[in-house]
Amino acid sequence: MAMTPVEVPRPLPWLMPRWRELVRLAEAGRLPHALLISGAHGIGKHSLAEALVARTLCASPGDTACGRCHACHMLASGYHPDLLRVAPEEGKRQIRIAPVREVNGFVAQTAQQGGYRVIVITPAEAMNVAASNALLKSLEEPGGRTLFVLLSDIPSRLLPTIRSRCQHWSLAVPDEADCRPWLAERLGGEEEARFWFRAAGGLPLRALELAEPASRALRQQLVDTFEALVRGAEPVAEAARLDRQSIDAILWYGISWLEDLIRLGLSGDTTELRNPDLLVLYRQAVKNARVRDWFRLLDYAREQRRMLAQGGNPNPQLALEAWLVRWSTLLRS
Ligand SMILES: [Zn+2]
Repeated sequence: MAMTPVEVPRPLPWLMPRWRELVRLAEAGRLPHALLISGAHGIGKHSLAEALVARTLCASPGDTACGRCHACHMLASGYHPDLLRVAPEEGKRQIRIAPVREVNGFVAQTAQQGGYRVIVITPAEAMNVAASNALLKSLEEPGGRTLFVLLSDIPSRLLPTIRSRCQHWSLAVPDEADCRPWLAERLGGEEEARFWFRAAGGLPLRALELAEPASRALRQQLVDTFEALVRGAEPVAEAARLDRQSIDAILWYGISWLEDLIRLGLSGDTTELRNPDLLVLYRQAVKNARVRDWFRLLDYAREQRRMLAQGGNPNPQLALEAWLVRWSTLLRS
């Protein structure tokens, strides 16, 4: 009985050149047994990985998985016996050793469908040291027809021994022209697409996130806060009006604005600004501070974000206040 074709995963448009390279390798039988796909959050790594997983498990793949075979149907239904996904447990940051032991057992078995066994680990940098060490043996002697796909936003945080056993595919920030039609379709126009692509630093999926109503509202609130601080408002009072749970996004915007301010302070060039709508505000801010101090604040913001991501700062309210106090000190200096 012929089955109705299912929708198969495809890479996002700006990743098509990388996808064609992968397909060529697969067709030549030269796909490595372990791939590390890295790139900033919002670049679209998952679309590339999922397309590859589907094509690898598919019984008669072409440019993508076929969408018609039994394997494609199983995958679309959400379960394929030869696919194992490893991620942190719900609400946890780390990938611990237990699920990696499961991986080792999984690669020791024969594929049930007679094809490839595929293991997807995401985010790979979440593996703790014990988990990473446990994975090494499988990465070294995976047996035939096994594909490991490791996804990572920050590959430098992986153990070097893990990195060196994978073929590393680093995804670069795409050209605006390759993303604009896709973004314009989702954001309702070219202007919007251009604005949010820039604000997101060239990360298309991040651009979509930033353009969501709640994110837009937060951005506007932060612009108001920035304006208030430039006028000399009291930072702790300003902090009380912001949602401390948004601390990561608040720091993210802070970093983006500082990078703009530094660019403006160093070269005066306005064409490369990520947030050109803030130029008037930037001009007022640059008057009062030196580029060296902006750099120092930028380092601070990056460090705070890193600590928050690792659960190192348990008090987001304090982090938020400290951040705004530093901003305002700089603006008043
Ligand atoms: Zn198929």
